[in-house]
Amino acid sequence: MSRQADALVIGAGPGGYVAAIRLAQLGKKTILIDRDRLGGECLNYGCIPSKALIHAANLYENISKSNSIGISVTDAKVNVEKLQEWKSAVVSKLRNGIATLCKGNNIEVIFGEASFETANSVSVRTSDGVETVQSDKIIIATGSKPIELPSLKFDGKRIISSKEALELSSIPEELSIIGGGAIGLEIGILYAKFGSKLTVIELTDQLLPGTDADLVQIVSRTLRRLGAKILLKSKVVEYEDAGKGIKIRVETPNGPESHEADLVLVSVGRRPRIDGLAIEKAGVEVTEKGFIKVDKQLRTSTPSIFAIGDVVGPPFLAHKASREGIVAAEVIAGQNSELDYRALPSAIFTSPEIATVGLSEAQLQKEGRAITIGKFPLAALGRALTNDDTEGFVKVIADAETDEVLGVEVVGGGASDLISEAALAIEMGATSEDFALTIHPHPTLPEGIMEAAEAVKGRAIHILKR
Ligand code: FAD
Repeated sequence: MSRQADALVIGAGPGGYVAAIRLAQLGKKTILIDRDRLGGECLNYGCIPSKALIHAANLYENISKSNSIGISVTDAKVNVEKLQEWKSAVVSKLRNGIATLCKGNNIEVIFGEASFETANSVSVRTSDGVETVQSDKIIIATGSKPIELPSLKFDGKRIISSKEALELSSIPEELSIIGGGAIGLEIGILYAKFGSKLTVIELTDQLLPGTDADLVQIVSRTLRRLGAKILLKSKVVEYEDAGKGIKIRVETPNGPESHEADLVLVSVGRRPRIDGLAIEKAGVEVTEKGFIKVDKQLRTSTPSIFAIGDVVGPPFLAHKASREGIVAAEVIAGQNSELDYRALPSAIFTSPEIATVGLSEAQLQKEGRAITIGKFPLAALGRALTNDDTEGFVKVIADAETDEVLGVEVVGGGASDLISEAALAIEMGATSEDFALTIHPHPTLPEGIMEAAEAVKGRAIHILKR
């Protein structure tokens, strides 16, 4: 069987399905292919299931400590089966929503494994056999998959990736996490809140590599409070079976150490998912690390083929994939769109959350830029106190000469929601004065951004000038 389309999208994650919808909105006959489920890694195995479990863990923690604000709850218990059912129901609801949107936009969806035949033709292996799709334009949105350590290969049971870690049927007693990046810490903290004894082993000299150290310090404090053991500059060298669990040997700056755990989550980064896609048949070039090379309009080395999302490289963020999908779709429809990553926000759902946009303080200092910084502690913010959640701060970084906002960093409760205001400011080229001039409702967390912006000029109302 052979089908014809104006545009074909391979991969129905937040990059691919969003691109398909925009293509259809722009009048293109669009086919969307996925070998698994609508929504991709993010909806089915990543962003959404992890945030559902994190929400539940935070609720459990808040219930457990609510005595301090006058609410006593005894005997709070976690029913993991019910929790997993609820999480899966959230995921299904959203997946059904995508199916409805595809149908409503007349997007043809094919479930099957796609593989290039030529630059304009793809074969799809479905449960009913192989069919061919011919298309003028093709978008590759096949995402990424976890990197496997040669010394610690995934077995799906005791040595697991984030996918299995979000589908556990019981709370592990001892959980070791290899890799102290965002995914590892989000999952580690959630299980630590449910009672797991946590060990985090990180190769570099700080958790959340690439994030400013003053933000990371606040999350490290939570980890210590939860009783987690953190091994920095450390590396797993080998492992052996230890009854129902695993014993790992770790090289640390203080010499070799052994750790036993019932589960080891390996979360050391992600690599492009292009195996079986035969992109070489379409002349699509990749970088040294195997990510697909694209220009600012997401066009690959073959002009009729575009690539978006994780498969073109980090940062691995769903909203980056979606924006790239929109740009690629608009370019295919003849518009002159292109991507500007300056205002790309990033959120890490640890405890507390970290969210950033623009350039970091460390980056700017490395570049030798003249900057002014305003910092405001959440402990001085009424809303944070009423939320009983005062750890963290807001940092606004502005150009010393022009006052243009170059970066905003937030660590604290609600950081992932707070950062959008800052992203809008950077997108519009706003100054710190613009933040300060904007009246913020009281009592709210965004007042923290306004105060940090005032602090850039040394005139925040609710802290004393140092
Ligand atoms: P994907 O979502 O990976 O989708 C690719 C799709 O392509 C898949 O459905 C796959 O089945 C399909 N596919 C692959 N090869 C083929 C083929 N040959 N034929 C047909 N179909 C194919 N990002 C955030 O922004 N916020 C978060 O909170 C967040 N949390 C995360 C938590 C975890 C545990 C993980 C693992 C990731 C998280 N991410 C988060 C990252 C986010 O999931 C990815 O950045 C995002 O999914 C990338 O989207 P994509 O469309 O590029 O690819």
